[in-house]
Amino acid sequence: MTKYVYDFAEGNKDLKDLLGGKGANLAEMTNIGLPVPPGFTITTEACRAYLVDGAEPDGLRAEVADHLARLEAGIGRRLGDPADPLLVSVRSGAKFSMPGMMETVLNVGLNDESVHGLAAQSGSERFAWDSYRRLIQMFGKIVLGIDPERFDDALEDKKRARGSDSDLDLTTDDFRTLVTAYKKIVRDATGRDFPQDPAEQMSQAVRAVFDSWNAERAILYRRQERIPADLGTAVNIVAMVFGNLGMDSGTGVAFTRDPASGAQGIYGDYLQNAQGEDVVAGIRNTVPLQQLAEIDRASYDQLLEIMATLERHYRDLCDIEFTIERGKLWMLQTRVGKRTAAAAYVIANQLVDEGMIDLDEAVRRVNGAQLAQLMFPRFDTEAKKERIARGMNASPGAAVGKVVFDSYTAVKWSRSGEKVILVRRETNPDDLNGMIAAEGILTSRGGKTSHAAVVARGMGKTCVCGAEELDVDTKGRRLTTRDGLVVEEGDVLSIDGSNGMVYRGEVPVVSSPVVEYFEGRQETTAVESDVLVKAVHRIMTRADEVRCLGVRANADTPEDAARARRFGAQGVGLCRTEHMFLGDRRQHVERLILADTETERESALAALLPLQREDFVGIFTAMNGLPVTVRLLDPPLHEFLPDITELSVRVALAEARGDANENDLRLLQAVHKLHEQNPMLGLRGVRLGLVIPGLFTMQVRAIAEAAAQCRAAGGNPHAEIMIPLVGTVQELEIIRAEAEEVLAEVSRESGADLHCLIGTMIELPRAALTAGQIAGAAEFFSFGTNDLTQTVWGFSRDDVEAAFFSAYLEKGIFGVSPFETLDTDGVGRLVRLATEEGRAARPELKVGVCGEHGGDPDSVHFFHQVGLDYVSCSPFRVPVARLEAGRAALQSSDSDTR
Ligand code: ADP
Ligand code: MG
Ligand code: MG
Repeated sequence: MTKYVYDFAEGNKDLKDLLGGKGANLAEMTNIGLPVPPGFTITTEACRAYLVDGAEPDGLRAEVADHLARLEAGIGRRLGDPADPLLVSVRSGAKFSMPGMMETVLNVGLNDESVHGLAAQSGSERFAWDSYRRLIQMFGKIVLGIDPERFDDALEDKKRARGSDSDLDLTTDDFRTLVTAYKKIVRDATGRDFPQDPAEQMSQAVRAVFDSWNAERAILYRRQERIPADLGTAVNIVAMVFGNLGMDSGTGVAFTRDPASGAQGIYGDYLQNAQGEDVVAGIRNTVPLQQLAEIDRASYDQLLEIMATLERHYRDLCDIEFTIERGKLWMLQTRVGKRTAAAAYVIANQLVDEGMIDLDEAVRRVNGAQLAQLMFPRFDTEAKKERIARGMNASPGAAVGKVVFDSYTAVKWSRSGEKVILVRRETNPDDLNGMIAAEGILTSRGGKTSHAAVVARGMGKTCVCGAEELDVDTKGRRLTTRDGLVVEEGDVLSIDGSNGMVYRGEVPVVSSPVVEYFEGRQETTAVESDVLVKAVHRIMTRADEVRCLGVRANADTPEDAARARRFGAQGVGLCRTEHMFLGDRRQHVERLILADTETERESALAALLPLQREDFVGIFTAMNGLPVTVRLLDPPLHEFLPDITELSVRVALAEARGDANENDLRLLQAVHKLHEQNPMLGLRGVRLGLVIPGLFTMQVRAIAEAAAQCRAAGGNPHAEIMIPLVGTVQELEIIRAEAEEVLAEVSRESGADLHCLIGTMIELPRAALTAGQIAGAAEFFSFGTNDLTQTVWGFSRDDVEAAFFSAYLEKGIFGVSPFETLDTDGVGRLVRLATEEGRAARPELKVGVCGEHGGDPDSVHFFHQVGLDYVSCSPFRVPVARLEAGRAALQSSDSDTR
């Protein structure tokens, strides 16, 4: 029989799939001897079975009863015992943390009788009734689905009657009458009484936690974070410990390092006489964790020691939840904490310095998505700025946008193309949509552990939180600064998540220090150099040492080629030539297309030749000494002609006036002739070379002459000639023979040996399937994975992405667009096959990829596995590809870097 329940002593941190992150880490802490209240975990497997069948799997009830009995025996109390009750929490906990998305019920086991037992045992009636009302409130909301505001309103009424805004001023009687009021709310809302049977409370709570996996906001969050929808959540049953037993008790959260910047130190919040979620919910103002040293020195010291133990044990930044019950410290949660992109690099680097991890591990601990984030622009420090407030630097970045005060408006405005800053007093899980839509998030309350901060960091979104100088009036849709300045909905603000500044209006941005470093404008050895830049440099250097994949860039101009080279590209993997036929040069292309005689055609080509040669000289010079793969003309010719409708109108109007232009008429004829129903599959690529005499040979001549010119000037050009859209080896053989002839001619003329590799793009399924034959005429392959994806799927990208991709993603047909991350099962299979068969036919065949996938982290890992020689991507993605190629080579055994 399947085992569905694990005692904390039976689990460990590597069982996250089964026990969820919370359960696995509670087990781990238990086993390294930290003070964790006893408990057990119901597996994600049980949840999955429940979600599929709509009922608990066979045997689960008995197994839970068994573990509960053992828990009771160990503690010497029974769940809900009227005289001396054991209370438990019922806590969700999925494999990947989903902050605030899932549900937890505390104080399960209290009822009209056991509340007296709890009062007697604890010596505090007030505490017992406070705990009971909390149970009904949480149970009502989470298990029974009652609008939480009904409970909140009743609580607020009580506080108002006391003339106070703090729950600390409420008395035993207040809580007692609140319990009566809450029970009435439950009866009114559900038609039933609040369940008095402790076992019934527990099993209902377990089911509610299972169900919370499919709550709307949880689904949305998973989609955003690309967490699979079918993992399910585990449920942890944990003996209660109480932070609400008086001022010698309390509860808090902490990070072992700053999750925003990575700086070492103690970061956390503490709240006296409070329970569980009070800290995050912001019911009262928390104090910085450092103040715990004055409140309860012994617990503080013990906590710091535990935090150090956890860091050493996990060899990483941890975040924790703890509770102090009358001077006794209890650990309630830990995990390897989420952090910003910058903190990820800085911390990995610190851990190497501290000897906790080696440099390879540091490379595994960061990723390309984070690096890409660090390359986003920052606010210009020189620019004039009007600062209106300062909050906490919760999640870095520079965000500019129009202020909105609710999630709905954020989504609506961003859909119509506006950039927005979502401003809230504090956020809650229902704000998720708005947070996704916004450029940045600004709150007036809450610290670095608040919902806004945690979620924004997870998304890599700019966030300033706790800007207390701002009075946020969400109903009135305005905020007021301390100086009385009013900012209305729609006004522009700039927020800096790196230092917590809030500016009025739009502040200009400049490139990030990491980009400055890649550009070579930042000294990594200088003492004052950014800790972040130093960390990035060290990690990139190691990634370069270990990677097997080369990294080239897709660059069509000398400027792009030069930048790519500064960013670490080892050549150009794709130099497209089509833009070289635009602008002023269009006239020559028109002449070429309209040419009736060989002389006319030759004259058009002759006009293009020197222009093309210049283009190549620039790129070869920028990439001197490194390979440059030039793709001969690929797009259909009509792309260079005027738009068919526009031209038809022009000709029609001219005819009406009786002054039709001869050239326009011929052009219109040509446009009609070249018009294609489906240009993607029409006259393009190698087919052009075969039907337009002289076009490809002109390009080859331009390449060869440019190479000769560079050579004569003392340079070292390495041109590679790439023929696009080949479907059969015969096409390639014909073009190859012509090209070789031209190369030989130019070699003779210039006296230089101009041998260069001639190869092809593999972007049609037939090319992949006949790769062995094609390799007979190709010295290299470059997978054009954009077109290969289109042709393998039968998708026309421009049409399908807009038309139905969102529906496909929603229905889970694919988790991510195959144009973003390579479809390894389909397209990838062809890549693998073509590589193997190509190399079998020609062992020295060079194989690369030049689609956009070359800069996509997951795809890079796949290309590494297939054993390609290089990937080629846009210049800005080059560092990302270098890093991911290094990470792929290190084959991270622990792939869990979320
Ligand atoms: P989340 O995943 O949203 O943090 P948790 O399951 O961790 O939810 O619980 C919510 C709050 O209740 C946390 O502050 C946690 O520390 C607290 N809590 C959970 N179980 C217990 C317990 N057995 N005793 C005391 N506090 C608890
Ligand atoms: Mg928690
Ligand atoms: Mg293509």
